[in-house]
Amino acid sequence: MSRDRPALRAARHTPGAGSMPRYEHYIAGCWTPPEQGEYLASTDPSTAEPWYEFARGREGDAQRAVRAAHDAFHAPAWRELSQARRGALLRRLATLVAEHAEYLAGIETCDNGKLLVEMRGQLTGLPEHLHYYAGLATQVSGETIPGPHPAVLNYTLREPLGVVVAITPWNSPLLLTVSKVGPALAAGNTVVVKPSEHTSASVLELALLVEEAGFPPGVFNVVTGLGAEAGRAVAEDARVAKVSFTGGTSTGAGLARSCAGRFVRTTLELGGKSPHLVFPDADLDQAATGIVAGVFAAAGQSCVAGSRVLVARALHDELAHRVAEQARAIRVGDPLEATTQVGPLATEQQRARVEEYVALGIAEGARVLTGGGRASVPGLPGYFVEPTIFVGGDNAMRLCQEEIFGPVVAFLPFDSEETAVALANSSRYGLAAGVWTAELSRAHRVAARLDAGTVWINSYRSTSPMSPRSGFKDSGMGIEHSRHVMAEYTRLKSVWVETRAGHVDDPFILRT
Ligand code: NAD
Repeated sequence: MSRDRPALRAARHTPGAGSMPRYEHYIAGCWTPPEQGEYLASTDPSTAEPWYEFARGREGDAQRAVRAAHDAFHAPAWRELSQARRGALLRRLATLVAEHAEYLAGIETCDNGKLLVEMRGQLTGLPEHLHYYAGLATQVSGETIPGPHPAVLNYTLREPLGVVVAITPWNSPLLLTVSKVGPALAAGNTVVVKPSEHTSASVLELALLVEEAGFPPGVFNVVTGLGAEAGRAVAEDARVAKVSFTGGTSTGAGLARSCAGRFVRTTLELGGKSPHLVFPDADLDQAATGIVAGVFAAAGQSCVAGSRVLVARALHDELAHRVAEQARAIRVGDPLEATTQVGPLATEQQRARVEEYVALGIAEGARVLTGGGRASVPGLPGYFVEPTIFVGGDNAMRLCQEEIFGPVVAFLPFDSEETAVALANSSRYGLAAGVWTAELSRAHRVAARLDAGTVWINSYRSTSPMSPRSGFKDSGMGIEHSRHVMAEYTRLKSVWVETRAGHVDDPFILRT
């Protein structure tokens, strides 16, 4: 089934029956065929049809890309560029992304099945992220430190690290890529991006814009392919200084182990099982709407999906009923249609995973209040599932402990603030939480006690490039967004200068 998909500018279009547009790797400013000549297909999850091919990267391709980034890092065209000029390049890129936002959003929707309105929102917001990092480029500086003697000067240099590898998942391809590449380039690093094998196109299209913005060749490279092949090979190259990864917790743990053994720095943004805490004084309408958006938006394929609803016992049935009513009314359908509220899951495997968890939840003794099956969308044979609500479960069940990454939420009652916080924190994850209460003091008290990198009070899912994002516990390590991100992409050097002519310290005495 063919739909009105965007033309792919950076792909090669070969005429002939059945031929699909085909992407090569983007290395050192050139579209580079894979060394072994292999390609993979990307599937539109709404139609279950492959719609373009991309290069299947192997070790040789990864090495070429890292070499290009390494060479570019040491080349004067990048190394000697002033911080203000690096910022100017990022601003030019921001303008180009703004001009192509609609086109890029369309590509992402056809690749991951998320709503066009959502991807459009992300893409039109992306220039703001790039402008923010452009500003940060000029803020990177060291400091002077009082020395042990007035004639001794001590200062620090904040330097780029070198080659940064950015590995990203399918759910918000460009937003998550820019969260890494923006600060990495602002700090003066060079990058190799390995996008998800399910959503390579928009990141490859970004390469065209990076080139048009005027970044020197080799500063931004893209190697595509499978995680265990291309991803692993780029991350394990000895010339890499840093790996910035967003994806599943077990993949992140494997990468962290391999990087730690080589003292390669990592930033890891991983999975979650985020709770909503709904207190007796909450505005139920507001909470119900927040819960629906928090877990069913993007068909639950959001790292911060609020997939556990902890609710005061007296409100439990009423809230579950209201959320179920809204869930049943959700329009599941073509993500390109403006009236659709939930699209398909990104892949067939993802749908199978969600279905396994629904069966598991039932087997564990929880009850399906609504949903639980596939959603049928006329004319579209893709991976649609119904928004699903479980009640009657227990927080210790796998249903409530493991990340499903689908439109599935479990309701659990609590009897006190103490229990609510204990249940919320009783999880290996610590990514986000939502607190619903009208009581100001409770809101702050609970926020301070939650093991979560982000806490929303009477709202859910707001984000800004200026606000830090970090995962606690098994949800990750390091920080993305905000001015703190620059520490993740720089190293600090201490320089000591003796200004007294002819002065020689006693070499056997350590001066402090
Ligand atoms: P994934 O871990 O399967 O893949 C993520 C990326 O890692 C892909 O590009 C993949 O090709 C690559 N990869 C896989 N194995 C690899 C290996 N051995 N070495 C190097 N790279 C490898 O994750 P996914 O299924 O694409 O994405 C969903 C996950 O991402 C969920 O767990 C979700 O919570 C998480 N996520 C987290 C955040 C956050 O900010 N914390 C944001 C979005 C998604």
